[in-house]
Amino acid sequence: MRSYDVVIIGAAIVGSSTAYYLRKNGFKGSIALIEKDPSYKQSCTALSWGGIRRQFSTPENIRLSEFGLKLIRNLKQEFGPDADVGFKEQGYLVLASEASVPVLEENAKLQISMGADTVLLGPTDLEKRFPYMSFEGIAAASFGQSGEGWFDPYQFMNLIRKAAIAKDVDFITAEVTVSMSWIARRQLTRSAKAHSPSTSTAFISAPKAATSSGALRPPTRKNPRSRIGRWISPGLRKSSGRSPPLAFPPSRP
Ligand SMILES: Cc1cc2nc3c(=O)[nH]c(=O)nc-3n(C[C@H](O)[C@H](O)[C@H](O)COP(=O)(O)OP(=O)(O)OC[C@H]3O[C@@H](n4cnc5c(N)ncnc54)[C@H](O)[C@@H]3O)c2cc1C
Repeated sequence: MRSYDVVIIGAAIVGSSTAYYLRKNGFKGSIALIEKDPSYKQSCTALSWGGIRRQFSTPENIRLSEFGLKLIRNLKQEFGPDADVGFKEQGYLVLASEASVPVLEENAKLQISMGADTVLLGPTDLEKRFPYMSFEGIAAASFGQSGEGWFDPYQFMNLIRKAAIAKDVDFITAEVTVSMSWIARRQLTRSAKAHSPSTSTAFISAPKAATSSGALRPPTRKNPRSRIGRWISPGLRKSSGRSPPLAFPPSRP
């Protein structure tokens, strides 16, 4: 059985970033980043629009976007001179009906207080600024004049994943699944296995595990593979306090 200090299940934007920032913040232990489909064709990251905005209604979301924006602006310092995610800083326009104007104004106030470049626009401003759009039924809008726009999320994920691998993170192609033995014995063994088309199953143990396997397949009784989140996350199920053994193919790509 191979041992790692940390295993991360799912290596798209969240998993790759988790590995990268663990290293960047000084974590010296061994890290395995496990991905079942390195083409990423079904991942939310590859399917996403790649939009980034600071127009949110909670401080947490605004801060998260601020963090992402700083990274995108410092891309070359962080990942080297060729790093590029095609960021188009062309703003987000949030539209409101008459009834929603108070909420729009309240959100804009919060955003501006946290440094966002949000402006409120009335119908006349909107028609002048965006003459190619119809604003019928729109009473007001908020527009992020800078620090908002869109980028290539697939490119962004590749940059972060490669940077994590360069920092001595093991990238492993395998699908981590909950094994029948675990299902039968529940918390007694917490064993799991991974299927790989080209290699046999092997087991891995780690005192810490993170799940970043996406949101597209929520856990169901009928689909044990989608129970990874419940199995791995101590917050989602009662933990016996033991280290969970995982499984992965013995040879790495
Ligand atoms: C159509 C669409 C548009 C979006 N637009 C935006 C946007 O404009 N702006 C924005 O900020 N967000 C957007 N999002 C949301 C954003 O894409 C997601 O929040 C983000 O990509 C989630 O990343 P993730 O790494 O958590 O999940 P994912 O990208 O889904 O990655 C999960 C990974 O885990 C792997 N995996 C799953 N199960 C296992 C397993 N058992 N073993 C091993 N690997 C496994 C999968 O193969 C996958 O690669 C959009 C999402 C969609 C679907």
